[in-house]
Amino acid sequence: MALTGLQIQKLLPKTNCRECGSNTCMAFAMKLAAKKAEIAECPYASEEAISVLGAASELPVRGIALGPDRALMLGEETVLYRHEKTFFHQTALAVNINDTNPPGMIEETLTAVRDYRLERVGETFLIDMVAVTHAGADANIFAALAKRAWETTGHPLILRSASPAALKAAASTVKGSRSVLSAALPETLDELCIVAKENDHVLAVTAPDLDDLFRCASKLREAGFHDILLQFPISSLAEEFQTNSAVRRAALKDTVKPLGYPFLRFLNHGNDLLEIAAGAITEIDKYGGICVLPAFDPALMAALMTLRLNIYTDPQKPIQVEPKVYPIGEPRTDSPVFVTTNFSLTYFTVSGEIENSGTSGWLVVPECEGMSVLTAWAAGKFSGASIAKFVKEVGLENQVSTREIVIPGYVTQISGELEENLPGWKVLVGPQDAADIESFIKTVLSKRKV
Ligand code: SF4
Repeated sequence: MALTGLQIQKLLPKTNCRECGSNTCMAFAMKLAAKKAEIAECPYASEEAISVLGAASELPVRGIALGPDRALMLGEETVLYRHEKTFFHQTALAVNINDTNPPGMIEETLTAVRDYRLERVGETFLIDMVAVTHAGADANIFAALAKRAWETTGHPLILRSASPAALKAAASTVKGSRSVLSAALPETLDELCIVAKENDHVLAVTAPDLDDLFRCASKLREAGFHDILLQFPISSLAEEFQTNSAVRRAALKDTVKPLGYPFLRFLNHGNDLLEIAAGAITEIDKYGGICVLPAFDPALMAALMTLRLNIYTDPQKPIQVEPKVYPIGEPRTDSPVFVTTNFSLTYFTVSGEIENSGTSGWLVVPECEGMSVLTAWAAGKFSGASIAKFVKEVGLENQVSTREIVIPGYVTQISGELEENLPGWKVLVGPQDAADIESFIKTVLSKRKV
């Protein structure tokens, strides 16, 4: 729990020596409370102060970095609901392969995972990880497959085996990939903790019940090991929902430190796509750290990544594109001119529909603080006057010979104001729905020989 300035000041030397840059210890304490300073800036801080302030500043859900460059982050969440602040590190999506799968299928899956790309609102999404499951008898085959998966995809792995010896062999084979070992049981905890430390991997911990899991995580913490993921013993969708929610609540609201780690979940639903999708959706919606899908399915992956984008977008910062005039296709000076807002989803939908129509044009996107058309209009950010001002500022009149501008059908009421502020221009009211842009271009604009 965060300490107040007064509580922190009681831990400081109270000599007001100013060596930390603050005039008094109290002023420094206030900075520490506001997280604008670090206790290390006071050279006289006691061991007790360092220890207490260090524990107080520990995030309720510890951050875990994966991958050779530690670029894949999990955890560091501070709220139960995204509208309270935001969620920071999205659920990592992984695809499983078994070492007993036919070689052709393994190769196909690894190549598909490596090459998968999804473009959404100007961002590119990749599959995050590959899980390699030791389902056969030979530990060498498991280790060799781990190496193959790492070399083919470059993604961090989840190495899954019931055999500590097989995990040890695979862990050293992919040392440097900063992967996950799954999973340590109470009886293999000490052994696998050493393997994880020696190879700089993260250790997933599981147990027959939550109490045992709690004890395992506590034991690792006491030993100073924090590269932990929690892998719950779950047998149903309801249990998955309840356990994820209860554990995250315990970590955030009750500051139960041994439960303050990201989760790892394997979806074991065979070929039932509906159950797999429901399990993955629950992980994305309910605090999942890593969600392992049993096989690669591009359609499911696209749906899950789209959902994940929605859940992990900061609700207080709408995703937006840069305000400017965008060429769509290869427009000429007499190509049609459209206008919309700089909310990313609106921009990419409108630009995509113009492109799909086979027509080139200019898309004018004024600053609307990332709001959609109607919201921006209601907030006074998408008015005839503001659009006209933007058109003049960017010098559109020198860039195009066209003197017609198409506005969204939802804001037909701004057409008069826009014409008043853009003398010489004619305003055309486009469709309300972006899906009708193509037919609008073909039935209205083409007849006008634009
Ligand atoms: Fe107080 Fe330490 Fe700052 Fe000196 S350096 S004023 S002792 S907090």
